[in-house]
Amino acid sequence: MILFNVPAVTGKEQEFIERVVQNRRFSGDGEFTGLSSRWMESKFDTTKALLTTSCTHALEMSAILADIKEGDEVILPSYTFVSTANAFVLRGAKIVFVDIRPDTMNIDETLIEAAITPRTKAIVPVHYAGVSCEMDAIMEIAEKYNLFVIEDAAQGVMSKYKGKYLGSIGHLGCYSFHETKNYNCGEGGALLVNELPFVERAEIIREKGTDRSRFFRGQVDKYTWVDLGSSYLPSEINAAFLYAQLQTADVINENRRKSWDLYYRELEELQRLERITLPFIPDNCIHNAHMFYLKCKSLDERTRLINFLKSNEIQSVFHYIPLHSSKAGEKFGYFHGMDNHTTKESEKLLRLPMYYDMNSSDIGKVIEMLYKFYL
Ligand SMILES: *Cc1c(COP(=O)(O)O)cnc(C)c1O
Repeated sequence: MILFNVPAVTGKEQEFIERVVQNRRFSGDGEFTGLSSRWMESKFDTTKALLTTSCTHALEMSAILADIKEGDEVILPSYTFVSTANAFVLRGAKIVFVDIRPDTMNIDETLIEAAITPRTKAIVPVHYAGVSCEMDAIMEIAEKYNLFVIEDAAQGVMSKYKGKYLGSIGHLGCYSFHETKNYNCGEGGALLVNELPFVERAEIIREKGTDRSRFFRGQVDKYTWVDLGSSYLPSEINAAFLYAQLQTADVINENRRKSWDLYYRELEELQRLERITLPFIPDNCIHNAHMFYLKCKSLDERTRLINFLKSNEIQSVFHYIPLHSSKAGEKFGYFHGMDNHTTKESEKLLRLPMYYDMNSSDIGKVIEMLYKFYL
């Protein structure tokens, strides 16, 4: 069976975990959390990178940092993972879903302004498949209406928009290190704090609402409960595993890009024959090959293709059921404007096997089966 995902292992994970075992220091914010944070801060050019237990938790921290309250509105695409919305609903927000662009599957930046009301507090762009949203347009709208921009860059680690790393462009950026993502530690994430005034409060929120970080830096002589918060820091064991992956981030990235390019090159003919649609990468974006997807003509065709690939020992999967048509989505949000693309495009999208160190002969087999299905 050619699996849809095989999480990366790069070689140093065991050695680093062994070091944690020997150090006898397992709780958060030890040596490897520090190494991972400093690595991200210098690589991604952000003010502060805080490791979290997941991207979901980085998003929840963002909602607290943005002071989201009962009745506030938050704008995001309906074509995303539940956590993008849940984090804000937990603080009492109403979710305002905006349609996506059919070419990138990202929020349509030209529809955001019309969805803004006096209650709007934040925009949450999701960089689908590690391909950037139109951040210049989004930041401009945010500035005009004084809104927070929280990037859901769960899939966008190492991707760039106009030379800047995704996650470092908005006020806050959220990464995922779940095993289905490019760089992983099983379950994990990070919050990028891109503006100095938010750093101290972010540390407090992450440490159960206490000023423990300040205490350890010697800035206060005891630590106490000072704000809202929860336990958002991962153990050193996870951080050690993650640091091994971050150290080899460029190697992983290049390897995934090679696989992605091979898929694209070999499938261009099927696109030319108008059998399938391939992903679109805007000129100003350098992507991280998080995902290789194609679009079928219809839901029915996609179902037949999944079954055909499965019968040929190839695992392929579809992606999000749009949030606005889910039970919770109906309760906690509404779709602003017309759903011209979200539902239609989501029904056609199919993700092919894609992971670090994937055998090129396996990619060849997937390509061969696609030709067999379509021609
Ligand atoms: C994976 C993902 C998340 C959640 O990440 P976790 O680390 O599993 O919490 C959130 N948003 C998007 C777009 C994702 O792809």
